[in-house]
Amino acid sequence: MEVSEARMKKTVLAKAVPAAALLGLVLWGGLPLLRHRHFDIPVVKGPGVTAVLRLSEFSPGLKGTSGDTNVYVLQGRDPGGKALIMGDTHANEPEGMLAAVIFIENAIVEKGTLYVIPFFNNSASRNTRPGDGYPLYFDVATDWGRRRFRFGNRDASPLDQWPDPDVYIHYPDRQLLSYIDVRNTNRTWPGRVDGPLMERVTFGAMELMRREKIDVAVDIHGAETMFPVTNCIVAPDSSVKIATLASLTVKAMEGFENHVEMSPSGFRGLSHREIGDHGPSLPFLLEAPIPFLDQPTGPKTTRFLLDGKDPFLLSLSKKKKLFVPYGEDGWPLEKRVGQHTSVTLEIFRQFSKKTAARPIAVRGVPRYAEVVKSGVGRFLADPAKAAPGGVVMN
Ligand SMILES: [Zn+2]
Repeated sequence: MEVSEARMKKTVLAKAVPAAALLGLVLWGGLPLLRHRHFDIPVVKGPGVTAVLRLSEFSPGLKGTSGDTNVYVLQGRDPGGKALIMGDTHANEPEGMLAAVIFIENAIVEKGTLYVIPFFNNSASRNTRPGDGYPLYFDVATDWGRRRFRFGNRDASPLDQWPDPDVYIHYPDRQLLSYIDVRNTNRTWPGRVDGPLMERVTFGAMELMRREKIDVAVDIHGAETMFPVTNCIVAPDSSVKIATLASLTVKAMEGFENHVEMSPSGFRGLSHREIGDHGPSLPFLLEAPIPFLDQPTGPKTTRFLLDGKDPFLLSLSKKKKLFVPYGEDGWPLEKRVGQHTSVTLEIFRQFSKKTAARPIAVRGVPRYAEVVKSGVGRFLADPAKAAPGGVVMN
């Protein structure tokens, strides 16, 4: 009897110790992910913000889900055209989100109205890619301290949209796409009111564009230096003329490259294709090179995310394997964000020249040279110094 009791105690202990160790490991690994998922980012309502809407007002199936997100409205002093700016379609390409936040916190709209969605794929911005060792946050240095942002993933979290199909059948064209694209908000356009969550996100933006009669839609991204569609504006037939004029003008006036890529008509689900095919807006997808996303690089550190410097890419550049010039100074965040603010402003200017009855005139947003010189942080407001009610959490 005594012997068997001792043996039982031993067996229980032999099971309890590894179980406790496993639980400890799960908590140690899981708690930072849980905190990241619930970490909210303050955005200060700049001098031009006149309202903050929710995307669920245009797509009711988003209400109460983590697909819902803020839509900042900057209604101008005088009437004019309307533009939509989207960042974080891919939440591991933060230059788009930062350009969008700079518009919200700095823009003064003189003619027309801006709609800005800085965290378009909110679920993806609360997701990560642990297998690739992604950092969960990054800090941007400002004049008053550090401003912290979530670093997300390309796709929505499976916690929000699950399970994935074997193959994603695009709506409405029935083109067969990769299973993972059902969580990629640059494959789920134009979306459905009752589709999977990410289709409800893109449907919300389509409805906003249709109801508010948006003229220009700018979807801002980053892309690998080893991927040919980088450092460019992707545009379909309807917007290619404005894209070309914007590209030539920034090159001549501001000295940086940004070529134009035609949107392929046979590849479905992309913003630059479906927005124009299913609504009134002229679509533009902006890409700036983000070395962090390339595969043959050193560790994926926050520093690398910000400065874009990597010795492996430098040696590949010497072997002519990259699609952009790449030197010792890498491709820093301020260059990427500056390109995006300049190209966006130039698209508005070219649209306004071509469509005089619907001008979009914005001031207060820094262009390329200013962002490169002063850094991104110079144009980020201090949430602690905002007026009461002047901060919106995202
Ligand atoms: Zn992207």
